[in-house]
Amino acid sequence: MEELTLSMSYSKKSCINTCRKKAYFKYKCELEAKAGSSALRYGRVFHSAMNGYYKVIKSKGWSAKDEAITAGSEQAKRIWDKVSAASSFREDDYRTYSVCMQAFLNYLTFYEADSTYLDVISTERRGEIVLVPETELEKRTFGHLPPLIYKYVIDLIVNLGGMAWVLDFKTTGSYIDSVAQKLERSDQLIGYVNVTKALVDLPIEGCLASIVHTSARKSTKEGGGYGVPKIEFRRVPQLFTEGDFRDWRLSTFSTAKELFDCSNLDLWPANYDHCFDFKACEYFELCSQHKPAGELELGNYRKRVYDMDEEEEEVAT
Ligand code: SF4
Repeated sequence: MEELTLSMSYSKKSCINTCRKKAYFKYKCELEAKAGSSALRYGRVFHSAMNGYYKVIKSKGWSAKDEAITAGSEQAKRIWDKVSAASSFREDDYRTYSVCMQAFLNYLTFYEADSTYLDVISTERRGEIVLVPETELEKRTFGHLPPLIYKYVIDLIVNLGGMAWVLDFKTTGSYIDSVAQKLERSDQLIGYVNVTKALVDLPIEGCLASIVHTSARKSTKEGGGYGVPKIEFRRVPQLFTEGDFRDWRLSTFSTAKELFDCSNLDLWPANYDHCFDFKACEYFELCSQHKPAGELELGNYRKRVYDMDEEEEEVAT
């Protein structure tokens, strides 16, 4: 049995539920477009800045804020250079390194009062847990599946006003209100809170979705560039119930079963309802060829460079 059928993550679950054929290209063939996504690069780099910054705050306290800013900037630059070297990007995009660093510094100003009531319990944690069917329903329905490994990336665990929260950063170019509403039912956040409850010996209140909005208008004049970027922030508390966690486990097992069946049957049906979500699907060009994997023209694609589970996503509405 292939490892593919046994591992799951938020992004893989989302991909399988979007389109089995997309999951085939992405996870079975491990293909990615050579052209990089400016939105994903921006998200990765902002997350890196946060990770570098909070690592110093956790180890040395809020009095080391200047050192933390330096660490965040340096880590962000390393990731920016690494990601930029690995793919080609549109040169006219407003999501540049300097805009990302502006967002980083604006974030620190916006949440300046954190130093008086926020303690960092844990910085970024990447890992995996094994999900084993526990209830009668889970055992009856999914007991035949191999143990399911769920991979996670928890950005931060913080103590805020005496309560422990998972803090998850979300970069977006969409309206904050609609992103906040979407995150109320976020499979990723429900899963990460559920995982964190098993990881730490603390009562976890829920998730603070820390949304970072960055957008810019392009001039309508011919050859005109982007105006000054708009950068906004909001932290939205998301509380989940035991029922949410039960449903999350069922849907995660159910998606794993889909992947297991697709893999065993080597059957990866297309779902045309998702070819244009937010923007055109990354694999549209491959899909349109209607050829078996071995005969596809792969000029604009390559074997993936990064582990898909390490991607930082941009939230679209
Ligand atoms: S183009 Fe459409 S059918 Fe093809 S992989 Fe993407 S979502 Fe699936």
